[in-house]
Amino acid sequence: MLCDQCHRTVTSAVVFDVDGTLGNWHSQFLAFMSLWLDEEVSYGYDGRRELSDYLGLRKEVYREAKLAFRSGGYKRWMPTFEEDKEHPLEPILEACWGLDIWIATTRPWRRLDNVDRDLEFWLDRNGIRPKGIVYGEDKYAQLARIIDPASVLVAFDDDIEQIREGIEEGFEMCFRFSKWNTGMSWGRTVVPHAASDYLGMAQVIETEKRWKNES
Ligand SMILES: [Mg+2]
Repeated sequence: MLCDQCHRTVTSAVVFDVDGTLGNWHSQFLAFMSLWLDEEVSYGYDGRRELSDYLGLRKEVYREAKLAFRSGGYKRWMPTFEEDKEHPLEPILEACWGLDIWIATTRPWRRLDNVDRDLEFWLDRNGIRPKGIVYGEDKYAQLARIIDPASVLVAFDDDIEQIREGIEEGFEMCFRFSKWNTGMSWGRTVVPHAASDYLGMAQVIETEKRWKNES
């Protein structure tokens, strides 16, 4: 893509949420919760309501569980959605070749520093070298202050609330479907793209690359 003013090449970017978008956070967290609660937890969650409500836990208890989950370093080994494949994220990484990758993730509760070693470990382990990482519920607003949303080909997220925030900030959003969010209510939100696996996500990136190059 060329800059309107200076006519120099401007690098395009792709943005990814991590938990539930690139990584299968829910399956690992529910497995942990079976241990933490010492009772078998059902895997029927579909995003229709808060996970704490689904598990029948008060918010404080749920937060303590999440803290314990994170403190144990579990997230370093968060599974992907296609565990049977050796390099499941390969189609995405290939589609992102030559593009800047940004990671936009919600800040873990009680985490005040700007570095999440477990997240960095996970990204590195999966071959992802991001240009930058933003943390927080307002991650898309933060990102829009750092990079021009127009330079972002597409941003992937599995949370419809975050999709809405991203659209409001001017990002081209793609909803990442999985069994964990099929029950989420879209309301009046019109989501430009949707993908239900890594290949589908890679195809959205390729389509946006072609569209941006032709326009
Ligand atoms: Mg997520």
